[in-house]
Amino acid sequence: MNIHEYQGKAVLKEYGAPVSAGFPALSVAEAVEAAKKLPGPLYVVKSQIHAGGRGKGKFKELPADAKGGVRLAKSIEEVESHAKEMLGNTLVTAQTGPAGKQVNRLYIEDGSDISKEFYLSALVDRETSRVAFVVSTEGGMDIEKVAHDTPEKILTFSVDPATGIMPHHGRTVAKALGLGGEQAKQAATVLGQVYAAFVGKDMAMLEINPLIVTTQGQVKCLDAKVSFDSNSLYRHPELMELRDETEEDAKEIEASKHDLAYIALDGTI
Ligand code: GDP
Ligand code: MG
Repeated sequence: MNIHEYQGKAVLKEYGAPVSAGFPALSVAEAVEAAKKLPGPLYVVKSQIHAGGRGKGKFKELPADAKGGVRLAKSIEEVESHAKEMLGNTLVTAQTGPAGKQVNRLYIEDGSDISKEFYLSALVDRETSRVAFVVSTEGGMDIEKVAHDTPEKILTFSVDPATGIMPHHGRTVAKALGLGGEQAKQAATVLGQVYAAFVGKDMAMLEINPLIVTTQGQVKCLDAKVSFDSNSLYRHPELMELRDETEEDAKEIEASKHDLAYIALDGTI
């Protein structure tokens, strides 16, 4: 089961991981209210759909040169005009397929000043039966492309479930990202928090792209793509409330109501 970025960030926050302040919004008025609660002067207006690549995505209904599905705003008026352009329109990204997805929710976030962008993800490695991490200096990029073009820029390692994250994992990640001192410490802490969230909530995949260092020197999770292992949802009734059925296949929703593991496929079967 997939959830929205803002919900994923709320889960990460439960485990202490650093995320920006923000509020979801279902209407332009709510987007303005959300922005008013944030300190400014920089805001981020983020389309909430179950697909990545939103920043570089295009809205079907807008001119080709219009901005994408993640936009910076320097005033509350600008938040309002972005919200008007985005809500109800169809965002097409590299991950949505050509049909795109309708944007029905926004996340209005306190904008960060970025100094460095990294990539961090965790997934279940079936081969080793462990949680594996993928870390790279190439944040904000498509990781498949990085893996193809510059595999040396990607670090992967898996974690022994008996010990969990150890100090050496933190040091390895900090070194791979070229971080020292205070930022190395923060990155190691975030790694532990991310691992705890992953295991604690039975995640199947967690992608933080980008993990950033702000110009003030703070390490932060700027994006969060989370999916849970559907077979373990019975252990987490609180997660079922995060389900957004408008993002899911109608046949899969119906099947799940009858406790059936069913996956809809394309084509003629
Ligand atoms: P994605 O395109 O779906 O992966 O959405 P992201 O949440 O990763 O946002 C896309 C890009 O917008 C990021 O890679 C950043 O470069 C930029 N961005 C997002 N939030 C901020 C922010 O708070 N400040 C600045 N300066 N850029 C941001
Ligand atoms: Mg991203």
